[in-house]
Amino acid sequence: MSSSDDMVDDKVKVEQGPNGGAVAGPIDSLFNLARKNSLWYLLFGTACCAIELMQTGGPRTDTDRFGMVFRPTPRQADVLILAGTITYKMASRIRRLYDQMAEPKYVISMGSCANTGGLFQASYSVLKGGDLIVPVDVYLPGCPCRPESLTEGLMLVQQIIEKEPWLKKAWGKVPAPKDPWPEESRECKDDS
Ligand code: SF4
Repeated sequence: MSSSDDMVDDKVKVEQGPNGGAVAGPIDSLFNLARKNSLWYLLFGTACCAIELMQTGGPRTDTDRFGMVFRPTPRQADVLILAGTITYKMASRIRRLYDQMAEPKYVISMGSCANTGGLFQASYSVLKGGDLIVPVDVYLPGCPCRPESLTEGLMLVQQIIEKEPWLKKAWGKVPAPKDPWPEESRECKDDS
């Protein structure tokens, strides 16, 4: 018999008894609870919005309190943040970083340049939106997109994770998002 019950969210319950505690809830919710509170984002940027990205990890917005920390390698990152103007030259590099990330992975388009090319969209060398090369989950407006806004975007990713049927996804029963830039349509497959 438990001495007190605490709901962690609307589905997961922690029961504390005299000899220890137990966590109870649907397996999807338990996995998702752990995943959404340990979102690691790739420390990578292509222009000035990346300065705001760096600041987001600082003491003012302090994303560590959500279990969100940056990783310098795509292999250990859950979230790719498109932070800044994307030139055509960088597009294949960004796609490679995305491909190196393990599933499940999420993409945030941060700021006007990443969303549409922003104030450089008339330029001959600028991509007119990051969603032409990788599937984007969350779009954030602004020039620059401020740390508060990016924090909100990361919290939106948490909300996406919260609703995911994790087991079905792990067993491949959820269709993958449409790839905007499939390998066969890439002109330059390895330009390193
Ligand atoms: S949206 Fe503004 S701040 Fe962000 S990369 Fe473009 S020009 Fe720089």
